Amino acid sequence: MKIFCIGRNYVDHAKELKNPVPKSPLVFMKPPTALLKDPNVFYIPDFSEDVHYEIEVILKMSKNGKSIQPAFALDYIDTVTVGIDFTARDVQSKLKEKGHPWEIAKGFDGSALVGSWSEYEKEKAIDFRLEKNGKIVQKGNTTELIFNFTRLICHVSTYFTIQKGDLIYTGTPAGVGKVNTGDQLVGFIGADQAFNCQIK
Ligand code: ZN
Repeated sequence: MKIFCIGRNYVDHAKELKNPVPKSPLVFMKPPTALLKDPNVFYIPDFSEDVHYEIEVILKMSKNGKSIQPAFALDYIDTVTVGIDFTARDVQSKLKEKGHPWEIAKGFDGSALVGSWSEYEKEKAIDFRLEKNGKIVQKGNTTELIFNFTRLICHVSTYFTIQKGDLIYTGTPAGVGKVNTGDQLVGFIGADQAFNCQIK
């Protein structure tokens, strides 16, 4: 199983981190070992003083595909949910400064939280939000994506064969921030709660 992630896919988030808005999707990957086994508990790793939450809509792929054409792209989506792309922002910033790959800041063990899956409806925009300790800290709607699901699936499958069960994290809206021990992160997709995670 591969975990694809898309960076800077909401204008307001690209701006908050002072990054330019990309002209084509920014793709990176997390290894399968990044999957947070118990989505109810996240342990802050020792190597970072500044781990951020990023809520994102996640697509699960239904079948294998290569160089997928736009008309068929959405047929490759099995189910959807929201999750967190945990990011060691301090580690990432240092790597970015040097122009180095940022894998260790994004792909460490447990960095990919996946919520419970919902049915995917092709024509329906997805509303989602993250609450930290009972307050909304991030909210978004998939109509605000710079590159929509079709564009992402076509782009990713140009370079990588998509396999059944692969995940695509579609990017985070503005409002990312630090997690602290004792925080509670609750993610919603539409009206449904997808995860409730304790930070330790
Ligand atoms: Zn992200």
